[in-house]
Amino acid sequence: MYCPFCNANDTKVTDSRLIRETNQVRRRRECLLCKERFTTYELAELALPSIIKRDNRRDAFNQEKLRAGILRALQKRPVGLEQIETAISHIIHKARASGEREISSTQIGEWVMEELRNLDQVAFVRFASVYRSFKDIHEFREEISRLEYDNTRK
Ligand SMILES: [Zn+2]
Repeated sequence: MYCPFCNANDTKVTDSRLIRETNQVRRRRECLLCKERFTTYELAELALPSIIKRDNRRDAFNQEKLRAGILRALQKRPVGLEQIETAISHIIHKARASGEREISSTQIGEWVMEELRNLDQVAFVRFASVYRSFKDIHEFREEISRLEYDNTRK
């Protein structure tokens, strides 16, 4: 980081904090040469792993894509936006907490299904049928009966 006063490259961070609302890191810096102090706002590197797609290509973690997939499954279902955002933040939390640098899209899909299963079972089945691309009606039935089984245990 260059000092905006003397252009020296030697600055030290004296304070650093995350501003949650904007995902920025506010850093107080001090120039080691001219001793001036200044503040920088940097977008927090929230270290989300990149995604390994099914065809083995890598892709950046895309929160909008994740949201779009979930919203598609939940179309016209009685689930509030707030619940949806909570589910998304659970998934992002899991991705971050995994500590992995790369994560498979399959894993993300499983997490989405876990969330949908709790939110709305119709959405869950919708998502699962696209995602797992059930080979036949038999696989589909198995998934449904697993749901029914879970329901009886609740
Ligand atoms: Zn300076």
